[in-house]
Amino acid sequence: MRRPVIAGNWKMHKTRAETREFFDAFKPLISNINHCEIIVAPPFTSLSVAADSARGSSVRIAAQDMHWEREGAFTGAISAAMIVDAGCRAVILGHSERRRYFGETDATVNRKLKAALAAKLQPIVCVGETLDEREAGRTERVLESQFIGASDTLTPEEFSRILLAYEPVWAIGTGRTATPETASESHAYLRRLAEQSFGEESASGLRILYGGSVRPDNIASLMAQREIDGALVGGASLDPQTFFSILNFKQRSS
Ligand code: PEP
Repeated sequence: MRRPVIAGNWKMHKTRAETREFFDAFKPLISNINHCEIIVAPPFTSLSVAADSARGSSVRIAAQDMHWEREGAFTGAISAAMIVDAGCRAVILGHSERRRYFGETDATVNRKLKAALAAKLQPIVCVGETLDEREAGRTERVLESQFIGASDTLTPEEFSRILLAYEPVWAIGTGRTATPETASESHAYLRRLAEQSFGEESASGLRILYGGSVRPDNIASLMAQREIDGALVGGASLDPQTFFSILNFKQRSS
């Protein structure tokens, strides 16, 4: 049984004061939630405030990126040790916005992934095709090269500590969600890739989150799919009540 994970990616939103306000409202809402794991990924400047504010709750704090080196002359970069020091337990890697605007490649995702695992962070590794790639029938090839490029050289034990997020780029921030069936097909394909690389046991334990315009009104149908183990939520994670409505999917659908 794979325990669901609902993760919120705040992107470049919220000051430290806004972060405190979010948790003041959010913590009481989730006090009885135990059917899923909850992760919140604020921007770097709010990480330690978020970690302090989340104390006493089940929320784990994630960074949205990191550098693979421990320290050095890398202006503007933040290391795994630094985000651990700020209170992080997880880190998002390879988000399509990092790939598109900041030159992230499968090779840099792989280096970051190994550094994150060495620092005992839980990586959330993002993969997903663009609309052009989907329309050209290249979805599986893209997912394969992103999956193999990122996870190459991991041991099965290391692989067992990662979360994978399938985020079709055409669904991120566009209001256009993949249908549960479309998402499920890609998840099943990614699980087959995991099986080929790391064996049946690792593949069946792998949690694959769906990301792309997840909202309170579509989460239940996504989570009803056996292949979908959770969600990576962008815009709809910024408001405490809306994010709560998403992670409360179980109660709402029963
Ligand atoms: C994301 O940022 O990973 C994401 C899925 O964004 P949104 O939910 O806003 O589409």
